[in-house]
Amino acid sequence: MTLRQTLDRTLLLMRDEINETADDETLIVALTGTKVAIIADTSNLATHSAQTAFITMALLMARSAHHVYLLAPDLTLVGVQTPLGGGSIIAELLKIGTDLLPGVAFSTDIPDTIIDLAIALGDSNVPLRARHEVTINADNWCGHLTSPQNATPWNAGQWPLGGMMAAAMAAAEAFKISMRKLEQHARNPGLMAELFAPVGDITFALAPADTKLTCEMEEFDCVSGGAITQSILYVLTRVAGVKAHARVIEPDHADPSNLNRYMLLLHSHLGSQKAEDLAAICSGTGLTIEPVAKRYEPAEVDNIKLRPDVLVGVDDIPSRWLVQRSRPRWLAIGATTHWSAMASFHVAGIGGCAECLHPEDDPSNAPIPTVAFVSFWAGLLTAAYFLRQKSGQPLDNFAAEQQIYVTPTRPENPVWAFVTPHADCTSCASLLDVTTVDRPPNSHSDRDN
Ligand SMILES: [Zn+2]
Repeated sequence: MTLRQTLDRTLLLMRDEINETADDETLIVALTGTKVAIIADTSNLATHSAQTAFITMALLMARSAHHVYLLAPDLTLVGVQTPLGGGSIIAELLKIGTDLLPGVAFSTDIPDTIIDLAIALGDSNVPLRARHEVTINADNWCGHLTSPQNATPWNAGQWPLGGMMAAAMAAAEAFKISMRKLEQHARNPGLMAELFAPVGDITFALAPADTKLTCEMEEFDCVSGGAITQSILYVLTRVAGVKAHARVIEPDHADPSNLNRYMLLLHSHLGSQKAEDLAAICSGTGLTIEPVAKRYEPAEVDNIKLRPDVLVGVDDIPSRWLVQRSRPRWLAIGATTHWSAMASFHVAGIGGCAECLHPEDDPSNAPIPTVAFVSFWAGLLTAAYFLRQKSGQPLDNFAAEQQIYVTPTRPENPVWAFVTPHADCTSCASLLDVTTVDRPPNSHSDRDN
């Protein structure tokens, strides 16, 4: 297997902006030639939040084939970090690093040349020269990315969501450097410059600061075991003390082109049944997974009685309608389109349903352009909706934030909005007949993000 095969979907997305004067090898060199150091000292890496941020950045960047330097003490992991084992942070990352993309591995030496990007956790000292330096930090629900002069000691403790938010923003900054290396091949130089310019100091909040922290997630279903679901489970297994039982409804097997973005998939697990692999990789965490190796489609609706809470990670629009028409008490959908991530939640009595939000089918069997950090943003936003719901906060308190659309390369401009109900929505009107769908769900094996 080649690196080119595992980066197929990433290259497809890069081709949105890069013309044919650059061949695929040039794109791959832009990715592998992007050198990033992730830097933390003992005090800034002590908490589960900080360790989660460090690991999430490293994994997201490795799945985009960047050369990542891990410059931190090899501290004992203080919480669950699936798919890493339970040892120490650097040793476990080095082990996993050789089981991701072919030819990509982490380094732990201090680079002796000027690198592209240095990312420091909190106020950790940066022991090298980089063309661009940023620092990240987190609160419970917020990620912060700032210039070094605004660095402060790592703030968040055990709750890991804000740390993952900061990591997701930092991973986007690294990928933008790869794209800027290709600017002479831009299809639209103006658009490219705007999309991939470095971000300034930014805070991104996944939920209000006073949102209650809960590890009680009870039972829920995930429709699809693809990239969005993998990101959701990656997030939820990191909630300390999590107690949950999830079914993953997914018929397919892991493919090399999944490795660029599936947060819990290892190279050595390629070919495994996706749902069964997720059950195995999450065993030993407080989140127990029951694999259901089936596609959620009209013929299975009566066999797979969905639970009250359902998380959907499929692009296929009729599949979403089918889930909506099974009337889950609470439904969330995460998705990506090119450089953008989106998530929404749907519950009776608050705004529109999943079909109100996406009333048009968009059938296509073409491979989908995707990249690690965009899929992770979508999963993180969806998981945050789920945790807000589980916190017991009245749902109508955040109806104005029922959906979010954000382009992670430009996190300054998220759009949070209410989902307007459609008067002629078939799902809203025909909830009694759950098998009525205009078109059978798409059977292509990789119609998930
Ligand atoms: Zn509707």
